[in-house]
Amino acid sequence: MKARNTILLPGIISIIILICAQIIIVSGIWKQKDEMFNLRYRIYSQDALEYMDRNWGTDGFDTARLLIGSYSAKTAPELAGITNDSLLEARKKDVLYFVTTVLTREQDLSEFLSAYFESQGIEKEFSSKVKINYFELIYNDRRIPIFINQEQPGSGIQEAGKLKHRGRPGSTSQILVKGDRSENNNFRLDFEYYIDIRDKQRLVLRETSFSLALSVFSIFAVVALFMKTYRNLMMEKRLSSLKTDFINNMTHELKTPLSTITVAGKTLEMPQVINDGKRIMETAKLIGKQSVHLNQLINMILEISMWERTQFEIEKKKVRIEETIREIVDCFRNGSGQSASISETYDFSSAEMELDPVYFTTLINNLLSNAVKYSGDGPEIEVRGFTSGNNAVIMISDNGIGISRTDQRHIFEKFYRAGSGNIHKYKGLGLGLYYVKKIAEAHGGNVTVSSRTGKGSTFTVTIPYKI
Ligand code: ADP
Repeated sequence: MKARNTILLPGIISIIILICAQIIIVSGIWKQKDEMFNLRYRIYSQDALEYMDRNWGTDGFDTARLLIGSYSAKTAPELAGITNDSLLEARKKDVLYFVTTVLTREQDLSEFLSAYFESQGIEKEFSSKVKINYFELIYNDRRIPIFINQEQPGSGIQEAGKLKHRGRPGSTSQILVKGDRSENNNFRLDFEYYIDIRDKQRLVLRETSFSLALSVFSIFAVVALFMKTYRNLMMEKRLSSLKTDFINNMTHELKTPLSTITVAGKTLEMPQVINDGKRIMETAKLIGKQSVHLNQLINMILEISMWERTQFEIEKKKVRIEETIREIVDCFRNGSGQSASISETYDFSSAEMELDPVYFTTLINNLLSNAVKYSGDGPEIEVRGFTSGNNAVIMISDNGIGISRTDQRHIFEKFYRAGSGNIHKYKGLGLGLYYVKKIAEAHGGNVTVSSRTGKGSTFTVTIPYKI
């Protein structure tokens, strides 16, 4: 668990740093593109204004100025004569409303800009806004301030226009096209004209999309690579610990017959045994039995390491399936399965099938020995054989200790031993089921397990009648 954390934690932290760095880079690119976008429109707007001035001698606000001029000439004396403060304030509001409405409606700049943008092949849809900074009426050198922008947040900047956006005037989403100051005998006006391109977000996104896609892709690639490396590393670790367990079990398994043989050899040297023919026979039998066991273990390991190097090859023969299984079970019953009660039921639709009798015997034997090994006293084993579709199915059930769900996922792996790893309560090397799986697969079939801890296990081998 500790090892897992030492790899996982730095990995996750690095990925988070990478994501943050990507966010910073992409937002930087976004900002840059946004500014470039504004700059482009500002330049086009200046060009448009110059064009207008050159060809028509106007900036688009001449009519508005004229209207405001004549309105001011009429209103300035009126306001100069009002002494009541609240009445004066109310009139000032009316005046301001008039000025903003005129500046917004009686100008030709918006229409011209839109046409100019279209002619330049850039987005022509935008909303415009007029921001009044200062407006005062003048009557006989007396100045009557109507509106002063204090340049403070919420100071009541007088805005007019079609803008529905909530952005602050002059914020990045709005582009300043023109600032203007006009003055005559009746008024002084200072205002700014802004535009806001409707599809700006989408257009900037389109320009940023390549960097965005690249950054998302790089994050995904790094995460995927990390996950793959992490999984491989974990698998390596598991395999290495399985190998250590295997070596421990193996040493134990080999040492037992070896020390029996050593002791038996010493026994034969003892003077009181040398002349005892019966004891010599018994000891020789013991040595023989242990040597066979030793040989079996070594063969099994050699065979498995050979499978790793070469393709697993089987020699198939036509056999009578029920007869073959019965013989294997009988043999087992009279040999190492003497303590078990074994029941058999068969229902094969086709009497004959093709399989390698030697390997098939090993497969059934391994399952039967496990059923005995992992059951307490008086194991009850049930062997069932039947046909399902094109397959022969053989099920071997026991009433033993069962296998937990987690172990069920791994028991067919090489060297895997459930739970205890290298505890020698049940002898074994963790190769029996690996062998079973390999043999079943070499016949084109498979093996599965269903089990409940404490209730017993059922192994199901499925082999097609014909591959
Ligand atoms: P081994 O028996 O040498 O440990 P196997 O590959 O035959 O190796 O089995 C792998 C593991 O599966 C065993 O360690 C055991 O925990 C579990 N197992 C196999 N068969 C049974 C069974 N019939 N009942 C309970 N557990 C079993």
